[in-house]
Amino acid sequence: MSYKVVKFGGSSLADANQFRKVAAIIKSDDKRRFVVPSAPGKRFSDDIKVTDMLYKCCELAGSGVDFTEQLALIKERYNGIISDLGMDFSLEDEFDTIAKELKARPAKDYAASRGEYLNGKVLANYLGFNFVDAADVIIFDTKGILLLDETVKAVRERIKGLDNAVIPGFYGRTTEGYIKTFSRGGSDVTGSIIANAVRAEIYENWTDVSGFLVADPRIVEKPDVIETITYRELRELAYMGASVLHEDAIFPVRSAGIPINIRNTNAPEDPGTMIVSNDYDFSKESLAHTITGIAGRKGFSTINIEKAMMNNEKGFCMKVLKVLYDNDLSFEHMPSGIDTMSITLDSAQLEPIRDKVVAEIRKAVEPDHIEIEDGIATIAVVGRRMKNTRGTVARIFAAMAHARINVKLIDQGSSELNVIIGVSESDFAEAIRRIYDMFINSEKE
Ligand code: ASP
Repeated sequence: MSYKVVKFGGSSLADANQFRKVAAIIKSDDKRRFVVPSAPGKRFSDDIKVTDMLYKCCELAGSGVDFTEQLALIKERYNGIISDLGMDFSLEDEFDTIAKELKARPAKDYAASRGEYLNGKVLANYLGFNFVDAADVIIFDTKGILLLDETVKAVRERIKGLDNAVIPGFYGRTTEGYIKTFSRGGSDVTGSIIANAVRAEIYENWTDVSGFLVADPRIVEKPDVIETITYRELRELAYMGASVLHEDAIFPVRSAGIPINIRNTNAPEDPGTMIVSNDYDFSKESLAHTITGIAGRKGFSTINIEKAMMNNEKGFCMKVLKVLYDNDLSFEHMPSGIDTMSITLDSAQLEPIRDKVVAEIRKAVEPDHIEIEDGIATIAVVGRRMKNTRGTVARIFAAMAHARINVKLIDQGSSELNVIIGVSESDFAEAIRRIYDMFINSEKE
């Protein structure tokens, strides 16, 4: 039988009502047998996540301050869930152990991991599922790097004979036996590892939105949900600032060819977003726009360099880039003309050394003209279908021209997976809205 691994984020398990929704989702599909929970998240916007409460507890313990009250608040959150669910279950002993442990050795990762650990205990009991401690199966080396092969082996070994399990997200242990967490949001990674280990047919990542959006909803009103996105497209959009899954959650499933489905616990009927490999059968898609998503970032500067006959001068680019390298600067884009080149880079990185960099470039290549332009935003228009569609760039430019937005740079990668344009920061939001209109709204009409 093939299984589905289901990971539920903190807001999906923030209170008893959310637990009920989660249980209903799991019970509605017999394949949903391996469950990875986060710690209880926010119930309302200025609520505090249990993970943050635990970090606070550890901080107090570390400075020798009494943390009893802080720990009692955490206990209250779990006890609230347990009693609202009408469960006959107690975490009293667990909390005693945590208090003792924090007094003896206030380790940050141990403290934070208890959020998922305790939630896993509650959820397993509520569902009537087996509990598997992530500390037994998720293994890190002494430097805190995940040992994927050992981990997969340990998971398979541990779940042999179990036909279901709740495995808490976010943490594991090092080969020396210490509890270690992933970076924040790391339960996504645990889910992906478990999906790999049980050779799941799908990794469902349940959260509080119905998938990834084509554009930032703070800029575009009610943007469409992306129905299907490839791992590579996702990487492009994530790099450009779209907030998505934990970065490290892709690799374990990608290497095993397992798709990820982002779903909404509060709207389980919504299909969500499918994250798939490039060779996925896209014919099932109903909504196929030319582009998949739009994302962008502000805070760039361009160094514009001009020199007559630049094209004939061997090593010109190399000398300029060497100046960046010597100053430990990385750059984002470098479009060039016959006698011009321009380099886009992060303004914050450049700021403290801008005069030095200009002086060194002057010395290295003796340009006719060099200037720095600040206040640039870059926008990536990403889509696997662009490769086989003509006129995408023309449409982007037409959209900008109609809005009287000046395009300061354009960069199309060789993969033809994305087109990046640079505009003035003051045009950023309008540019995104116009691109959205051009490709999403007009393709619907
Ligand atoms: N609870 C952890 C956090 O708040 C991990 C997670 O939710 O994925 O970052």
